[in-house]
Amino acid sequence: MGELEHKFEVEILEREGKQKLPDNVKELLKASGMMDEKGKLKLKGVSPKMLKRMKQEYVECPVLKEDIHFVQCFICPNFQSRVMGKVLCKGAKL
Ligand code: SF4
Repeated sequence: MGELEHKFEVEILEREGKQKLPDNVKELLKASGMMDEKGKLKLKGVSPKMLKRMKQEYVECPVLKEDIHFVQCFICPNFQSRVMGKVLCKGAKL
């Protein structure tokens, strides 16, 4: 199996309009240089168009058992990749 070994395939869902990122996630993004002081996201390899889309997306996380902003999911240690509208999630306890 190797690289693509994962426990869950989590469907990526979409909502109208922007969703707010929780403050602790923002802090994390800032600390790791993925968000500037103004709150603008800077994710490597993600185009502005893709980013706009990501801001409207969320997943029903099977580990945390709640709706999680896709950006938060994207930086989660369990995030493996995004394939055909699904997140491949390692499913480890957080
Ligand atoms: S990668 Fe993280 S946030 Fe995303 S579904 Fe898996 S556990 Fe939840």
